[in-house]
Amino acid sequence: MAPVLKTADELKIMREAGRIVAQAHEEMRKAVKPGVTTKELDIIAETVIRDHGATPAFLDYAPGHHPPYPATITASINDELVHGIPSADRVLKEGDVIGLDVACFHQGYVGDAAFTHPVGEVSRSAKRLLEACEQALMEAIKASVLGNKISDVAKATSKFAGRKGYSVAHEYTGHGVGKAMHEEPQVPNWWPGKNSRYQWMDYELQVGMTYAIEPMLIAGRNDLYELDDQWTVATKDGSLTAHFEHTVAITDGEPEILTLL
Ligand code: MG
Repeated sequence: MAPVLKTADELKIMREAGRIVAQAHEEMRKAVKPGVTTKELDIIAETVIRDHGATPAFLDYAPGHHPPYPATITASINDELVHGIPSADRVLKEGDVIGLDVACFHQGYVGDAAFTHPVGEVSRSAKRLLEACEQALMEAIKASVLGNKISDVAKATSKFAGRKGYSVAHEYTGHGVGKAMHEEPQVPNWWPGKNSRYQWMDYELQVGMTYAIEPMLIAGRNDLYELDDQWTVATKDGSLTAHFEHTVAITDGEPEILTLL
C-alpha cells in the first residue's frame, strides 16, 4: 500500500496537531522529577490536549491482542522500552530515565512524538544513552530527503546506534502518520543490509509523505518481553532503554519536523 501524500492544507493542520503534542511534552518535561507519579504526567498531557480541543490518540486504542489502552501517554521507566501504562503507583526516583510518548487527534489528523528524560541526576551511561538516541533520531531526520528511500532512513538510525554500541528494537518501528495514527510506510530503526528481502524498505521518499521516526535504543541486548498488563514492553536482560520520536514531513528541501513548539 502506498503512503498517503498530504496537501499544504493538510500539513497546516498536522503542524497544529504536532504543536499540541509538543506543548504536552513541554509541560510534562517541566514536571518530571523524583516523587512525581506517571499518572500525574498523564493528567498533565491530557489536560493540554483537551484544552486545545484535541483528543488523546492512544486512549482506547486496541490493536491485535492488546486490551483498550487506558491512558493518554505511555510512560516507560528504565528497562521498559515502550507502552508503559501510567499509574498512581509508579513514582519516579532520582536516577530513573522516563520515556514519554504522546499522540493526539486534531481536526482529524494526528501528531505523535516521544522523549526520554533523566529524573534528577542520572548515571553517565544513562546520559550517554539518551544523547545517542536523540542524535540517532536527528540522523534519521537528516536522511529524510528526496532521492533517499525508507531503507536510508533506517540505515541512518541503525548505523548510528551501532557505532555508539547500542542495540535497536526490531519489533517496533516508526510509521506513516496522517488521518490515522499508523499509516504506510513503516519506518524501521534497523537495516537488514543490501539485497534484503524487505523490498518495501526500497520505497522512495516523496514530497508530502508524513511519518513518525522513533529510534528505540537498548544498552544491552534486543531481547524483549511483554508484561502481564499486555502493553508494557521491557528488556529481558534488564538493560536501560531510550526512545525519541518526531513526526516529520518530506519536502523538496529539508525535512520539516511537525512536532515542534
Ligand atoms: Mg509515538
